[in-house]
Amino acid sequence: MEPKRGSLAGKVAIVTGGGRGIGRAIVRRLSADGAHVLTCGRNGRPSDLPASVAWVQADIASRDGAATIVGTTREHFGTPAILVNNAGIQLEKTVMETSDDDWDLVMGVNCRGTFNMCREVLPLMTESGGSIVNIGSISGNVSDPRMAVYNASKAFVHGLTRSIAIDHGPRVRCNAVSPGWIMTAMASDGFALARDPERAREDAIARHAVGRLGEPDDIANAVAWLVSDQASFATGQCFVFDGGLTAASPLQPGLF
Ligand code: NDP
Repeated sequence: MEPKRGSLAGKVAIVTGGGRGIGRAIVRRLSADGAHVLTCGRNGRPSDLPASVAWVQADIASRDGAATIVGTTREHFGTPAILVNNAGIQLEKTVMETSDDDWDLVMGVNCRGTFNMCREVLPLMTESGGSIVNIGSISGNVSDPRMAVYNASKAFVHGLTRSIAIDHGPRVRCNAVSPGWIMTAMASDGFALARDPERAREDAIARHAVGRLGEPDDIANAVAWLVSDQASFATGQCFVFDGGLTAASPLQPGLF
């Protein structure tokens, strides 16, 4: 292993779902900050993953998959000090439209997968210390229409975050990052479902106090800070990064 420099120099990090989107940005940022990073996905290694980043093909929804990810990390780099539970699946359905298979898929990844990964690393981190960041969503705080199970799954992630922080501190810090609208394949898929995708995009931008939609690096920057020693007093919290989207009252201007 080459020696690394930076605020996370030499730390071992696992980022789930780092093959694309927000996860890929987190992988690159933690790696640039000096961490030895392993990431995973259900398919083969993405060709554009930096050579220094280790990859394992595994599904976090199964206990064996989570154990494989943590075991492979230990073989490659040593004991993980950082876990970022980023992998997640979105589903645009109401309760009435949701099948048993839909439920199993979304809850299996977003809830059981996040839980599986935490359960695998906690025995290690309670010994040698560590920081967990769970990627939640503003959908866990305010409900997006027609996303019933996804919204509920992210509320679970926020609750699990608080429980881990109070049960496993002071050795382990655990926080959640709640992204708003971040331009990844997941967000583009959402726009594509709109009757007028371009108008939906303009409307979405107008609702952001910062005047733009989010980029994966906005979330990667937040995660890099949370896992660093600079955030050593932060635990059990859910940090919203949404460009001001949920700061606004739903009342229309000019109503009063
Ligand atoms: P993407 O769909 O672009 O990427 C998700 C990643 O997770 C993929 O690399 C995927 O790889 C991986 N993944 C999915 N299921 C599994 C699994 N069972 N085991 C291992 N890896 C898996 O999503 P985003 O980057 O947009 O989102 C990342 C996180 O941020 C998610 O938790 C999402 O809910 C959250 N979020 C995103 C927002 C946005 O606007 N984009 C807003 C709020 C929250 P593969 O399919 O190959 O397994």
